[in-house]
Amino acid sequence: MTKIQINKILSDLLGITLIIKRDDLYPSPGGGNKARKLDYIIPPAIVKGFNALVTAGSCQSNHVRATALYAAKLGWKSVMIIHDQKPEVFQGNLKLMSLAGAELRFIDKMAVKEEMDKAMKDLQGRGFNPFYIQGGGHCVEGSYAYYEAAKELRDQAGAILPDFIVVASGTGTTQAGLEIGVREFYPGCKVLGISISRNEERGKEAILEAMKELNDFLNQPVVLPDDIFFDDRWKGEGYERTYPELLETIRWAAHTEGLILDPTYTGKAFHALCHNVKTGLIPANSTVVFWHTGGLINLLATDKI
Ligand SMILES: *Cc1c(COP(=O)(O)O)cnc(C)c1O
Repeated sequence: MTKIQINKILSDLLGITLIIKRDDLYPSPGGGNKARKLDYIIPPAIVKGFNALVTAGSCQSNHVRATALYAAKLGWKSVMIIHDQKPEVFQGNLKLMSLAGAELRFIDKMAVKEEMDKAMKDLQGRGFNPFYIQGGGHCVEGSYAYYEAAKELRDQAGAILPDFIVVASGTGTTQAGLEIGVREFYPGCKVLGISISRNEERGKEAILEAMKELNDFLNQPVVLPDDIFFDDRWKGEGYERTYPELLETIRWAAHTEGLILDPTYTGKAFHALCHNVKTGLIPANSTVVFWHTGGLINLLATDKI
């Protein structure tokens, strides 16, 4: 369970009630939504007798870092396929992956699938029973984690009824879980997914696919809405790409009320939130939950801000 807080100064300045859901403080070093997903992905694998992990991501992948730490906590072997060049100095997430004892294989972006399969075979050849986790923790258990998280919010927010939930959206796993959870627990509330890299068409398709899988998993009838909000206007030129207004918003939130955002994920989502308040898409006096998905390590590992 992560806490919620009301940010009074930012609320007053924006003319809304701003509530922050602190998944950045999810209890794992570095926190974030990837750690929450793994709490639903890995326990079933433990029960099934797996004893090693394979996954993939970039040097600053929060998912790979959280997976490496989880493996270390279990005393499991892990092999991480890193689709980046090996840097001379290990910073941020890469430093934590390395400290956690993960075996890191730096490869070309085009070869992720092959290298993951190869890592699985290698581990099997060495007598392990490896469990395969898709990059980003993109799977139905990952979405289920955020369906449960919507329930957690309802249980802790009591009489506070959010009108909007704003969340940074990448693979769509987190948003898909929230979409289904919110429809059940907060009818009338709208999830505003803010793309950090994908265009609208691809992003929505992935969210709808993940929602379909989660509906199946929950044994619920499949009702796929046509009003998924996945806004690709704030991604800049793509993943990890920044622009001056984004950096300005990150500085503003930090010095105005100590709200720390990162330029890869949460900064884009909060920048969109501010814009949507200004244009009236989020009307004045709305109650808005900003789902803080993490990213502090991304902020510390970049020299862009
Ligand atoms: C991965 C990530 C996201 C996006 O989550 P998805 O489930 O892939 O959409 C958002 N914020 C942070 C900090 C992340 O690491």
